[in-house]
Amino acid sequence: MLNCLPGLIICFWRDVESILNLNVIGNACMTFSQTKHKKTCMKKGKLRKPIDLIKIFLLTLLTAFHFSAIGQNNTYNIFALAYTGNDKIPVSEIAVGSKANDSITGNAMVWLLKGNNGRIILVDAGFTDTAQYPFFNNYIRPDIVLKEININPEDITDLIITHPHFDHIGGIDLFPNAMVWMQKDDFHYFVNTAWQKNGVTVGLNKKDVSKLIEKSTEGKLTLVKGDSIEIIPGIRVFIGSRHTYESQYVLVNGVSGKTIIASDNIWYYYNLEHLLPIPITFDPKGYVNAMKRMKRLVSDSNLIIPGHDALVLSKFPKVTDRIVRIEKNNK
Ligand SMILES: [Zn+2]
Repeated sequence: MLNCLPGLIICFWRDVESILNLNVIGNACMTFSQTKHKKTCMKKGKLRKPIDLIKIFLLTLLTAFHFSAIGQNNTYNIFALAYTGNDKIPVSEIAVGSKANDSITGNAMVWLLKGNNGRIILVDAGFTDTAQYPFFNNYIRPDIVLKEININPEDITDLIITHPHFDHIGGIDLFPNAMVWMQKDDFHYFVNTAWQKNGVTVGLNKKDVSKLIEKSTEGKLTLVKGDSIEIIPGIRVFIGSRHTYESQYVLVNGVSGKTIIASDNIWYYYNLEHLLPIPITFDPKGYVNAMKRMKRLVSDSNLIIPGHDALVLSKFPKVTDRIVRIEKNNK
């Protein structure tokens, strides 16, 4: 279809030429003789007003479509934004099977994907319920951190929720225009099964259930079913680690190449380097397999971004104290 468009456009233009009595330089139509529309192009018609107006309209539409298709290939500038400060945690608590005695530094982040197609996407929403979770140091509400790079909460077009733990979903009500994307099975577990007998509620805040349902009743919730699904041009989601019932991670067509926002499907670089699972997953083996798969999905494993590792902030070019740009040539 796209190959045919230049010829089609020229042919329409030749018809418009006869309508408007203009001269078109050269035989542009013959240049595009591969199109099937040569006959239409060569036709000398009289002024047929309704049809001619439709042609002008179609010409405008085709030209706009063609050049918008050429002008973008859906790439994204990617930023990591830390909305809490850094905390030390023993390695043994984040990597099952590790014999290390030292500590590792963690924080909590959201990720901004700024597309050349006009989409301004947030991966995860952070949290706002500081009364329930007062132990995070140096907390700043995620929408306030976004303002450091001139993004207002209303600007967010899409919000991809990797999983419904409080520090990833609690801020969804901060972004009024965003379409929320979440795995269907994770949604159902979160709003129902988790709270029933034998359900797992670790990391879940029941107040977030009502926020999510509100998004649904506003028509701003899209449930995704399955693995390797392109939900937005240049954005593909994957499942497999089962950090929650059906947590997902995001493969982004980034400016530096394929980039994975792993969120909690990899907590720390340590987990990725040692291929050790975290203690919170329904499937430890699946968690490790998901990390191995992530390595295969990108050409540069530096472009796999873990969910809670403060190293992210020193590894990539700094934008502000809390924000880095995820791109190659990192340290
Ligand atoms: Zn989590």
